Parts: sequence; C-alpha cells; structure tokens
Amino acid sequence: MAKESKGKAKKASKGPQPYKAGRPCPKCGPGTNLGAHSNRLACGKCGYTEMTSTEKK
Ligand SMILES: [Zn+2]
Repeated sequence: MAKESKGKAKKASKGPQPYKAGRPCPKCGPGTNLGAHSNRLACGKCGYTEMTSTEKK
C-alpha cells in the first residue's frame, strides 16, 4: 500500500515559499506588502528588508 500524504497537499503552489507572501510592511503599514524573496522579505517602497531564516537545522 502506497500512502503518499506528503507532497500533494498544497494548492496553487508557486514554488517553495517558506514565508507568507503578502506580509504587510511594518513601516509602510498594512497597505504595502513585502516582496517575498528566497530567504527574505523586502519592501519595494521604503526598502525595508526582513530576513526569513528558515534553515534552522
Ligand atoms: Zn515599506
């Protein structure tokens, strides 16, 4: 019996997104979202950058 409960439980996957895209910028407010990069979030408005260290192992 092959039980694959892992791997096909996400919908609309746009690639590996460790962080939630669309997080509001703490500086600009909830009106501006941070751009999700591979390992950080960056605001294209004020330049705020937040590291999202997901490699904790
Ligand atoms: Zn900002």
